[in-house]
Amino acid sequence: MRVLVADDEATTRLVVKAVVQKLGHECLVANDGDRAWVLLQTTPIDVLITDWMMPGLDGPELCRRVRGRPSDAYAYTYTILATVMSDRADILAGMEAGADDYLIKPLDPFDVQTRLIAAERVTELHTEIADYRLQLERLNGDLAEQARTDPLTQLGNRLRLREDLQIVHARAQRHARPYSIAMCDLDHFKAYNDTYGHPQGDQALQHVAAVLAADQRADDTAYRYGGEEFIIIYADEHLPGAAAAANHLLRTIEALAIPHTRNDPHGILTISVGIATYEPGNDQSAATILEQADQALYTAKQHGRNQIATPHDANVTH
Ligand code: GH3
Ligand code: MG
Ligand code: MG
Repeated sequence: MRVLVADDEATTRLVVKAVVQKLGHECLVANDGDRAWVLLQTTPIDVLITDWMMPGLDGPELCRRVRGRPSDAYAYTYTILATVMSDRADILAGMEAGADDYLIKPLDPFDVQTRLIAAERVTELHTEIADYRLQLERLNGDLAEQARTDPLTQLGNRLRLREDLQIVHARAQRHARPYSIAMCDLDHFKAYNDTYGHPQGDQALQHVAAVLAADQRADDTAYRYGGEEFIIIYADEHLPGAAAAANHLLRTIEALAIPHTRNDPHGILTISVGIATYEPGNDQSAATILEQADQALYTAKQHGRNQIATPHDANVTH
């Protein structure tokens, strides 16, 4: 352990230092409260043995400050107040200020030794708790990440989409900027599964997801919305820009040339895309934009698949 002795009397410092070092611990000393506080802020200290009365900060104030540090939860400093004042009220006040134990002066080396044994046990426990806490925080972070990731494609899932969309929508409203949503759906994918089997269907989904992830620009994010449906958010993008990006996506998936004999007339795996855009000023909710994208997707399917469509002009852009 690293022990700090804060005392203005040289003899006390010497007695404590001798005991501390005899027990194999490291000992730092401070002649007054201010110096002790500087050391406490710059060096990890396991045990503080502090005088009650000394120049600068007094013992109880040091205890209060030690307990007030935010880092106290991670690196505990066991604090012992050493005082000539055997008045019980003073001792109580010191303990209430944050001291873990007290010693009556003049100090008996044996008392210091027994206190340090207790201190070591307590600081070890605190270290263990701090380690567990760090582990738990890390685990919590991992779990939160897992809960928002689709295991098959590693894209964000519906939960992440919902959270991200809220943020994108709020930002668009605040800055009076647009954003677009593309809803992508694999064409005749039920027939694909029926023809090639479910495992190969899974692989096809992974291939498409990889294209979606790779084809993104900095402000685009792709999600697996459900089964064979994906969503892309084009932040800060009007309809034409989003349509161009989605068209590029369509071509890239075509280029994979994954055989799909029952996807007439294409013969390869294709997707259809519905695009809708939030335009500042017309006060639509994110849910409405999603719904419009879904309707546009339906239009794209109706017009022959492997194409994009928008809600405004149920026109085919392929
Ligand atoms: P459409 O072109 O109109 O979208 O036709 P479709 O057959 O793709 O549409 P439908 O909604 O009828 O079928 C979707 C299929 O997607 C059915 C389901 O078996 C398949 N699917 C959904 N999730 C998965 C998955 O995780 N793995 C595999 N292999 N298939 C999936
Ligand atoms: Mg579908
Ligand atoms: Mg489909």
